[in-house]
Amino acid sequence: MAQKKSVPELKHLDHVLVSETAIKRRVAALAEQINRAYRGKDLTVIAIVNGAIIFTSDLLRQLRSPLRLDCIRASSYHSGTHSTGKPVIVDNLKLDIKGHHVLLVDDILDTGNTLSAVHELLRAKQAASVRTCVLLDKKERRIVPFEAEYVGFEIPNEFVVGYGLDFNERYRNIPCIGVLKSKYYAGKI
Ligand code: 5GP
Ligand code: MG
Repeated sequence: MAQKKSVPELKHLDHVLVSETAIKRRVAALAEQINRAYRGKDLTVIAIVNGAIIFTSDLLRQLRSPLRLDCIRASSYHSGTHSTGKPVIVDNLKLDIKGHHVLLVDDILDTGNTLSAVHELLRAKQAASVRTCVLLDKKERRIVPFEAEYVGFEIPNEFVVGYGLDFNERYRNIPCIGVLKSKYYAGKI
């Protein structure tokens, strides 16, 4: 059998915060929790792209409810590691969510600006319920009071990449969550 080749950009990491194995285990546990909560109900999963793509695809394949998937685009980082505050949300949802149970999925809950704005938008479209699932939560960075019902890992205040999370659109394909060596952020923060 061919040996699994590692992603060359793994070498750019200063340290790993959450390993690939830990992510796998935690995603399975989150899926179990969600399956219990939505047993017998239809679900509409809305992923915030691009960051939530990988997390959503792993989670989705372990959900047992009949479900629909849609994506919404939001961005608050413009090539850097500091949020610009007000997120830009492109409301390009194709599905009608009125009267439907929605599970909103994102990669990371940071200041809370993005998720609170998207949550509000979905409520305004009269979803029957809206719950949020994030892989990572940087609690100490919160500016807007917002909590997710399902959280993978609480992490310290460090800018992370991997498993869908980027820095200047790179590193999304790293299979774990880690912090880049400072030279790779240099001049761009
Ligand atoms: P918030 O609006 O909560 O401040 O930011 C949420 C968005 O900012 C996330 O969806 C994510 O795209 C981005 N973000 C926040 N913290 C990080 C981080 O540590 N690394 C990366 N790559 N993106 C982050
Ligand atoms: Mg994002």
